[in-house]
Amino acid sequence: RTVYLNGQYLPEEEASVSIFDRGFVMGDAVYEVTSVLGGKILEFDGHVARLNRSLAELEIVCDISREEWLEIHREMIKRNDLDEGMIYLQVSRGNAGDRDFHYPPAGTPPTVVLYTQSKPGLADDPKVQKGISVISVPDLRWHRRDIKTVQLLYASMVKMAAEKAGKQDAWFVEDGFVTEGSSNNVYIVKDGKIITRQLSNDILHGITRASLLKYAAEAQMEIVERPFTIAEAQAADEAFFTSASAFVMPVVEVDGVALGSGKPGPVSLRLREIYLDESLKAAI
Ligand code: PMP
Repeated sequence: RTVYLNGQYLPEEEASVSIFDRGFVMGDAVYEVTSVLGGKILEFDGHVARLNRSLAELEIVCDISREEWLEIHREMIKRNDLDEGMIYLQVSRGNAGDRDFHYPPAGTPPTVVLYTQSKPGLADDPKVQKGISVISVPDLRWHRRDIKTVQLLYASMVKMAAEKAGKQDAWFVEDGFVTEGSSNNVYIVKDGKIITRQLSNDILHGITRASLLKYAAEAQMEIVERPFTIAEAQAADEAFFTSASAFVMPVVEVDGVALGSGKPGPVSLRLREIYLDESLKAAI
């Protein structure tokens, strides 16, 4: 693979970052994952906007413009001959020269890394036909989940716990209510209404979520933004999650209880179709 590191396109073996980089030592970095279908970038502007918000919240200075980001993304697609897959982008606060809790002096350049992951068949995931099963786990993450940091250890732990339990993912629960999935936003469908937690610092503001809710509203579907419990999910007709890499994924079982028919529901499948159609139309 050809990767991007601080302004250069390099073979992946030649791209290296300092052991003092704060992304490595402190988890002091933010990231984005963007899907590519047919060589085109989905949700480009949404991802750049959220990246800039994450950077601003953490006071990481990175002067790359939207046009420059677009050029870098297109160059990565071209150099890696990427048709279907993802682009991973990470910006860390850079190399502090030594380990120090304090931020490095102003003017210390951030570390900017991009690489591609080829996933042929990305939009035809066989899991969609069956739906996935999830476990619930306590949400032990910090309280700024709206900032997309690379601090993904707990998300990894709960994905491993799900795998051990023979399930595919985990839903976080806090104060009795579902916050989100380990790497996705979650929804239930009851009596035709789409119910999903409202935006706050408690969840990541999913780019897929924002577009999906817009497309659902345009299709005259009813959306209710409020928290829901695991018991309510288990009594729902359907459930699904959204993320940039999985788009819309049906969820058919929560903590061992099958939802509705136990199969992917019609609303979830329709939303997946609408989302893929519309986001592909808007891809650049
Ligand atoms: N919540 C969390 C915790 C996530 O990691 C992700 C995926 N990055 C999402 C939600 C979904 O966000 P998006 O639709 O922008 O991928």
